[in-house]
Amino acid sequence: CGIVGYIGYREAFPIVIKGLQRLEYRGYDSAGIALFDGNQINLAKTKGKVEDLKNKAKDISQKGSIGIGHTRWATHGVPNDVNSHPHYSNSGELVIIHNGIIENYEAIKQELTKRGYIFHSDTDTEVLINLIEEVQKTEGVKLGKAVQIALNQVVGAYAIAVFDKKKPDEIVVAKLGSPLAIGIGEGEFFIASDASPFIEFTNNAVYLEDEEMAIIRLGKEIKLRKIKDDAVA
Ligand code: GLU
Repeated sequence: CGIVGYIGYREAFPIVIKGLQRLEYRGYDSAGIALFDGNQINLAKTKGKVEDLKNKAKDISQKGSIGIGHTRWATHGVPNDVNSHPHYSNSGELVIIHNGIIENYEAIKQELTKRGYIFHSDTDTEVLINLIEEVQKTEGVKLGKAVQIALNQVVGAYAIAVFDKKKPDEIVVAKLGSPLAIGIGEGEFFIASDASPFIEFTNNAVYLEDEEMAIIRLGKEIKLRKIKDDAVA
């Protein structure tokens, strides 16, 4: 399983697809991609190989210089198109990719269901993105802070990347257990499970530690935060 992301000035689609192919050695059953074209999030995902994803993605606009891609190794919910990542939040404004397991997802899912959330997949991941959305709404905080608060309620392991349509110059990532590397270029950033997807673009890489998160914003320095700290911008 693997994670790839890009935010910068190039077309994200080919970078993300090629990156996912570089991570194929890690094993997976499904693949997916989300791209922001400046107006909306376009998403393609499928059970099968990255090659199948390339076919599926012919149906969507492949434009945009922000993208996240995922190869899934199913833990909760069978391998199928719906359970493949990325997953939207209920508002459709947030999108997530996740490697790992949210162990207490069922209790959180019940609570969110009571509050009116609807779930389309059987994954633990869709629970996490809706928890982040609920925190954003109830606490009125920025995306980074919402991700941090949500992760403090979660038991499990993860490498995640979250994108918010309302903040289209930013990707928030976090890690516990699963690996996550950030490549820093000139006016662009890369995200991946290891450096192989971005090695041709930059050799400036930051590897997140466990319980660490990063707010990656175009034109800014990366903000690294400990998930358990309470101060986050
Ligand atoms: N637990 C998540 C799922 O089953 C992520 C699996 C993975 O690591 O790819 O969808």
